[in-house]
Order: sequence, then C-alpha cells, then structure tokens
Amino acid sequence: MSELKITFLGTGSARPTPQRSVACVALSLGGEAVLFDCGEGAQLQATRAGFKPSRLHAVCITHFHGDHINGLPGFIGTMGLNGHRDRVALVSPRGLRRYLQVLRELSILHPAFPLDLHDAAQDVPFATDDWRIESFPLDHRLPCHGYLFREKDLPGRFDLEHAIALGIPRGPLFGKLQRGESVRLDDGRTISPEQVLGLPRRGRSVAYVTDTRPCSHLVEAVRGVDVLIHEATYTHEFADLANERGHSTAVQAAEVARDAGVGRLILTHVSTRYVRARPLLREAQAVFPNTVVARDLDVFDVPVHD
Ligand SMILES: [Zn+2]
Ligand SMILES: [Zn+2]
Repeated sequence: MSELKITFLGTGSARPTPQRSVACVALSLGGEAVLFDCGEGAQLQATRAGFKPSRLHAVCITHFHGDHINGLPGFIGTMGLNGHRDRVALVSPRGLRRYLQVLRELSILHPAFPLDLHDAAQDVPFATDDWRIESFPLDHRLPCHGYLFREKDLPGRFDLEHAIALGIPRGPLFGKLQRGESVRLDDGRTISPEQVLGLPRRGRSVAYVTDTRPCSHLVEAVRGVDVLIHEATYTHEFADLANERGHSTAVQAAEVARDAGVGRLILTHVSTRYVRARPLLREAQAVFPNTVVARDLDVFDVPVHD
C-alpha cells in the first residue's frame, strides 16, 4: 500500500523568516505528488526536504496573496530546467491564465511542459484514477478556496493464511485476487476475491484550509478527514485582528477540528509575531488535544485505515 506523506515546505504567513518560509505543503502518495500553495522559496525548500517533483500532478493555489503564489514561477522554471516534461494541473481561482500570460510576454517564464488550468470553483477540479481534489470556498479578503485530497477506497486486507488454507498456490493468483479478480484453480474450483479479502478500507483524506475566517460550511466540508491542515495565524487574544484580516485563531482552527471530528489537526500559516509556537499550540490543544503546530520541513505520515 502506498505511503501518504505530508511535507511542510513553508509554515509562515505574509513573509519568510529564518524560521518559517511561507505557505507551501507537498502531499505525496507513492510516487505521485500534489502541492498546496507555492509561496516564495518553495523550490529551495523542496530541495531541502528532498522532495522530487518528477510526478507532480497538480499545484492547488488557494488565493492570489503573494505568500501563497510568489514561488510558482520559480518552481515551474526549475522543474523545466530539471527536465520535467509531463503535464501539470494548476488549480486556482480565476485569473491565473492572465498571470501566466504576462510572465510569458515579459519572458519571465516559458514553461517547458504543458500546464492545464482548472477552476477552483468546481467541486472536484482535478482527479486521477486513485485520488481526487475537492474544493470549497473560504472566507478571506479575496476569492479563496480550501482543498481536500481524497484517496479512493482501498481493497480489504489480503488474508494470507486463509488463502493458503484454501489451497491457492502462492504466486500470480494472489495478485489477481488482491486486484479484485476471481481465479480458477487447477482442481476446477473458482475462488472469488471476497473469500480472501477483508472489507474495503476507507481511503485517506487530508484537508488544506488557509486563509480564512471561521465560516459556517467549513465543518461540513472537512467532516471526518484524517488530517486537517488549518491556518492559525494568531492566538485568540488577537481574534478581532484575525477577523479583520480574514484569518483564524488557533482556538478557532481547533473548534473546526473538534466539530468536524477530524483525526488530527496540524496548524500552519503562523504570524511572524510568534517566534515560538507554544502559545498557539497550548490554546488549540485545550479545545482539540490531537494538535501540532507544523515547522518547516516537518513530515507527517497518514496511515492506512484498518
Ligand atoms: Zn496568507
Ligand atoms: Zn491571504
């Protein structure tokens, strides 16, 4: 079963500091990858993290504030220099086509591979055979979208002992059964996959929510996800400022996690006013204990469901 990993390439807000680069999260499933946001310096952080974008399928941009998109031209340019030639989907609010066109006209960026533009206003702006990206609106100072990576349900676990007890010879027949195909044995018996596979397992899910004020539909949008990555720009003493600037506090992020019944909360998009993340962590954990504050280059595994 493929590993699902979340790598934080940038965890700060507004501007990079020596401790925190700005918004960018890489998700990788097996050899495939998706980026959420692409703040300034993302390509350098990707190198530091050992993240190889050779099978990058999609970059999902939440909104057009610089701390979420200023790294995109550099990232695309470097991928081209590194020999990337496969198409990449760019999911974003409307306007990216114009931005790319200006970059081309001014010779700032000539992408070496095809870029397919997808409108983030669609419910499912991008999908492969194995997973899809869902989108939902957020409440910020300009059009902004949250994203949800949802893996397809996985086949049940293969019961090796039972397969052997049934007299199925080891080898290619095991693989066929694991892929959901029936097999015929030399003695004429037919074995169906249900005889040796457990119940299907729920696919994994990761939601990416930044930048936003608390909004009424958010809890439903991220209901039951395994991991909720949510902005926590401020501590709750700055709730008014957060609201004015279209952001959430750590407490508000934790309330979403609690009300939506998510597995784990990872806070990001931390204001430059916090050199240490402890105040954010402490107040969020009081509401939702299974919380961490991401640091740059942190990697989290999302385990398969039993
Ligand atoms: Zn931001
Ligand atoms: Zn913003």
